[in-house]
Amino acid sequence: MDILVGAGTFDSLKELDPWICFLCQPHRPHGALIPREDWSIRVQELFANNSAMEFEPHRVYPSIPANLRRPIKVLSLFDGIATGYLVLKELGFKVDTCYASEICEDSIAVATVNHDGKIIHIGDARFITQKHLEQWGPFDMLIGGSPCNDLSIVNHLRKGLYEGSGRLFFEYYRVLHLLKPKEEDPRPFFWLFENVVFMNTHDKVNICRFLECNPVLVDAVKVSPAHRARYFWGNIPGMSRPIIASQNDKLILQDCLEIGREARVTKVRTITTNSNSLRQGKGPSSLLPVLNNGREDSLWITELEKIFGFPKHYTDVRNMTRQQRQKVLGKSWSVPVIRHLFAPLKEYFACEKLPPLTISSISSTSSTSPSSPDSPEMMQLR
Ligand code: SAH
Repeated sequence: MDILVGAGTFDSLKELDPWICFLCQPHRPHGALIPREDWSIRVQELFANNSAMEFEPHRVYPSIPANLRRPIKVLSLFDGIATGYLVLKELGFKVDTCYASEICEDSIAVATVNHDGKIIHIGDARFITQKHLEQWGPFDMLIGGSPCNDLSIVNHLRKGLYEGSGRLFFEYYRVLHLLKPKEEDPRPFFWLFENVVFMNTHDKVNICRFLECNPVLVDAVKVSPAHRARYFWGNIPGMSRPIIASQNDKLILQDCLEIGREARVTKVRTITTNSNSLRQGKGPSSLLPVLNNGREDSLWITELEKIFGFPKHYTDVRNMTRQQRQKVLGKSWSVPVIRHLFAPLKEYFACEKLPPLTISSISSTSSTSPSSPDSPEMMQLR
């Protein structure tokens, strides 16, 4: 630092509290150090290194002609607040049935109330047997993100992949193996597993080895006003295509605030179950993200819901407190990210008939007309 930036830099940096790295400061040179324009993309690429390990490519299923597509049957493990089901419905999928494994009463209530009791809750993932799966199935898709608190490096007391809640990954793996169709079975079967990016390399490598593929990194910051970098493993076609915001996505915090409130930042940091995560920055100079009549304020729950892409009041059930509501939201998936990942499934499963296309809707909706893997839609997905 003293050589590249200037004599005495190291000592003055040690005094700074909180310390902010040069890259996070406004873009400007520091001595001989000049930030690259694309530094943040390069940092993400460190984590997105998909060529880290080589695996056999996934089996590719040809798309299903429109008249043969059936409603989808889903098993969702660690379902939380039914983000997967919400996205399927929003995309227009006809959902045959959705079985959901979840043990948190608050989350179950959110899922039940918002989806008219259509989700069938089956309790603890550890107790799902082969017999159950035969009875409930056959499933077209298995989705889930197991609890991250024992995997995330943010938790200094984490127990890793083999102890505590980290182990629940193996429940996903077990169920995946029980559901995967045999080679000779032509029926398409899709799966998606999610977890945090900031996990120990050994845990990540082991998840890759069990799931036999590398993950794709998708950061919700591209389609919402909050950072949320997550890994997704799976075999949904087009998963690794770039994520592009649509017209309806709210990209800046101001777009998610209630009337009369002013955003102090454009993007907020990753929202977790901890209310401190709503503060921007660390230490005494951290700020609350909103100005309300000139006074700093935290985000309201309805604003958090909007940031994640949920309908307003989605978590207002069971007389839950704001802490309880942030708890279920802080664990959840970002709706537009899951929409991006699930959209290609339209080539395989039945959707509601959309109203006739108008000029303004053509660019933002996908049609239910017969399409092949070479249809404009699929070409775009590639
Ligand atoms: N993707 C979800 C949230 C996943 S967080 C969403 O979008 O809302 C992990 C979830 O796993 C938590 O909701 C937690 O309650 C649940 N969970 C923990 N142990 C479980 C178990 N043994 N069986 C089923 N679910 C469990």
